Amino acid sequence: MTAPVTERRYQGRVHERSRQLMSAWMAELGRAETERRPTGALMISGNCVELLRACHVLPMFPEVTALQNAIRHKSLPLILKAEQAGYSSDNCAYVKADIGLFLDGGMGPGKPIPFPTITVCNYVGCNVYVKWFEHLADLSGSKLFMLDVPFARTAEPTAADIRYVVSQLEELIALCEEVSGRRFDIDELREILGEAARAEEGYARCKELCKARPAPFDAYFDAINMMGPINVLRGTREAAEFFDEAVAEFEGLVAQGLSPLTEERFRTVVEGPPPYPYYKNFRNLFTRWGAVAVASTYSTVGGIWEWGFRHDPRRPLESIAEQMLRENLTNRTIVARYGQIKRYVEEWDADALVIHSIKSCRLFSAGQGDMREYFTRELGVPTLLVESDLEDPRYYAEAQLRNRIDAFFEALEHKKLVAGAR
Ligand code: SF4
Repeated sequence: MTAPVTERRYQGRVHERSRQLMSAWMAELGRAETERRPTGALMISGNCVELLRACHVLPMFPEVTALQNAIRHKSLPLILKAEQAGYSSDNCAYVKADIGLFLDGGMGPGKPIPFPTITVCNYVGCNVYVKWFEHLADLSGSKLFMLDVPFARTAEPTAADIRYVVSQLEELIALCEEVSGRRFDIDELREILGEAARAEEGYARCKELCKARPAPFDAYFDAINMMGPINVLRGTREAAEFFDEAVAEFEGLVAQGLSPLTEERFRTVVEGPPPYPYYKNFRNLFTRWGAVAVASTYSTVGGIWEWGFRHDPRRPLESIAEQMLRENLTNRTIVARYGQIKRYVEEWDADALVIHSIKSCRLFSAGQGDMREYFTRELGVPTLLVESDLEDPRYYAEAQLRNRIDAFFEALEHKKLVAGAR
């Protein structure tokens, strides 16, 4: 192995601003009970956060709480609590960490995480969502709203699919009016969608900048700082301004030829969520090889903005429905995901594909063995498949991961040297 690469001493404005915005949102949630503001639990994937915002219902995201607990090394006791209560070791660990938090008394009256007033199961793609939110509504005593989003069977949703989702959004508006006691104003929604579209434009531009050599940020590990604002805070002016700042910062880094590492040796595309309990350790395994992710599928779980879709204030409910149906990773077929990854490899000029398979997430991991075969054999893209978990630290085996990652990059390095010598 040539001399290991290290992370540049760069934290930047984007990291800090994201942390501030997310903390402010958490503080708002913590005050919701005393301020008597209604809250609404939503899933990240293909969410309709703009609608809740326009209805004056404060959005909350159990997935975000679960991943924050994992990053802070607090997830295992919560998972064990849920397992003791009867949840199987095979269940999605996000669900167990969330239910474990309830069983542990970490949410509810007087706690930093309130109970939701309404639980909106925006079911897109993963059927775990349905049971998870049924349990959450049952435990918290909140009203359950099932928003059934048909799976994307075709490239474009049918007119009937859009009508079906729009009619449910109208029912959701009526429920929100009931819990908030305020009348819904379509012009307020239009304004919020305008801010959402601005943030989407900025996020897409940031991703586009990773086509530069070197890429100005890691589109897997650093993208997490942008996923909070785009998925949770979309529709606010603060989120739109955050992306204006991010674009300016990354354009500056591109102009100076700066990478997040001291050297960009390999450009990868990463598929699958990260292991939140060992986020930094996992990142370091790639950093030492100078491997930078220039694109990732995980950064599109909430929405795919890089192909041009934007929320449209002129067609408010229809464009929300289209995003839920078509423009998010979880509601699309595995073949559509192949196409997405292939575009990333070609257009972002990547050297390799890294698949991080998640033990407890079938939505992501089903079919990844075939995916590796397809990319390696049919397309000739060097592909590495490693496994652990996004929430449960028991499935993270660093020595094994390191062996696989080192062997893969050693081979890739050799291949580059041989190609360069010709
Ligand atoms: S199985 Fe995967 S997609 Fe489904 S809720 Fe769990 S982590 Fe999310």
